[in-house]
Amino acid sequence: MSTAASAADAPVSTDLISMDPATGQEVGRVPRTPIEAIPKLVFAAHQAQRGWGALTHAQRAEVLRPAAARLKAEARRLGELASREMGKPLAEAVGEANYCADGFAAELDEIVAALADAVREDKRVTSILRHAPLGVCAAITPWNFPILMPHQSVLPALVAGNSVLLKPSEETTLVACEYARILNEFLPPGVLTPVFGDGAQGRALVLADVNLIVFTGSRETGKRILGDAGPGLKRVILELGGKDPLVVLEDADLDAAAAFAVRNSFRNAGQVCVSTERIYVDARIRGEFLRKMVEKTQALRQGDPRAEGVNVGPMVNARQKAKVMGQIDAAIAAGASVLAGGESREGNFVAPTILADVDHRMEIMREETFGPVACVQAFQSDDEAVRLANDTPFGLGAAVFGRDLDRAGAVAARIEAGMVGINQGCGGADGCPWVGAKESGYGFHTGPEGHRQFAQVRVISRVK
Ligand code: ADP
Repeated sequence: MSTAASAADAPVSTDLISMDPATGQEVGRVPRTPIEAIPKLVFAAHQAQRGWGALTHAQRAEVLRPAAARLKAEARRLGELASREMGKPLAEAVGEANYCADGFAAELDEIVAALADAVREDKRVTSILRHAPLGVCAAITPWNFPILMPHQSVLPALVAGNSVLLKPSEETTLVACEYARILNEFLPPGVLTPVFGDGAQGRALVLADVNLIVFTGSRETGKRILGDAGPGLKRVILELGGKDPLVVLEDADLDAAAAFAVRNSFRNAGQVCVSTERIYVDARIRGEFLRKMVEKTQALRQGDPRAEGVNVGPMVNARQKAKVMGQIDAAIAAGASVLAGGESREGNFVAPTILADVDHRMEIMREETFGPVACVQAFQSDDEAVRLANDTPFGLGAAVFGRDLDRAGAVAARIEAGMVGINQGCGGADGCPWVGAKESGYGFHTGPEGHRQFAQVRVISRVK
């Protein structure tokens, strides 16, 4: 028998296999959820939702509250699993699990408060605004924050009274499964159901009889989901990619700006939707800023994500590495200069890379990279900086560094992004939503306004 024939005869595994991107070894496997089983799972979720939806917001929060201590007790193990599944440095992965556990109770309280009844009255009518369940929610999550993303999607959906089918990324199934297992120790059966698979299972969920789709992932997949959800007018919350700019004004604290640029471009190997991918620096301070940035980049340690002191791990998989290297190589061929990195390393590693002499004709300045690459372009005026920062279909986060806060604030106000930080990253104070503008978001989540997106607003009125 020829080799080709024996390969074709081999049984096809339907398991979803999770691979460690740093070592290439298998971390574990779970059976894929059969596509034909998904409508039945959704039907069961509707049945479970009836009882769950009949509780009050506060009662549902109380059911979930003890899960915080379980999550805390297992944070180390969850962090290790996340690090092995997607290559995040161990300390960051454990930090992510702890962040979810430590904020769990406050998050529940915030959701309950956000969904409380509100009263509106005029001279004639008293109305009560209720936040009722939508029904069944499909939560489809990515791999880059494999604990936080399921957490932020599932918790408000559940407290709002929906039942949830959680379809985590095929890269990080095991850790999401553990997160769901912990919550399921406390939830009634059928209220939270994990679904295992890739885009095919995700799509089947979107097409099934679900009422709300909460998705975090790429812009392209977000558009496909919106198309599939359209005929049924299903509610969607899409948190999509970005191409975040950092504008460094002439009077900026250059040490702080360079430290931020390095941290925010290379954290999680750049696999963060609000990574700094484009840096616009005033031409008068370009040289000094770049010197500082290169020095700080050279101090980074890349390698085994479980090794002490390593702060940059691998790309999640070979496909992502090929995409990032393709953009870097094309930019170099088009005239970009390499100030750090620029080369592929063994396995799935890409060296932290700084490219200068870039422009917007290059794909790397227009399309999301999702890798450890910072591209630096000089500008002559604040107006030019704003024009360049806005020359993108994306609009997730942005940052502006400058000592004159009026001037930095004026630039920040003109940048078309959902979240803009002045002398800091784009994340807002506690209670602020996570929100994208333009093609970076469609609906939003987090904070009281975000939590309300998981509920159906109903107005019940009577004459006084
Ligand atoms: P990436 O491939 O970089 O992980 P995606 O946006 O494709 O980014 O994936 C994010 C999530 O969306 C994953 O859980 C993935 O399995 C899921 N997914 C991919 N394609 C679809 C689709 N057409 N419909 C629903 N979910 C999808």
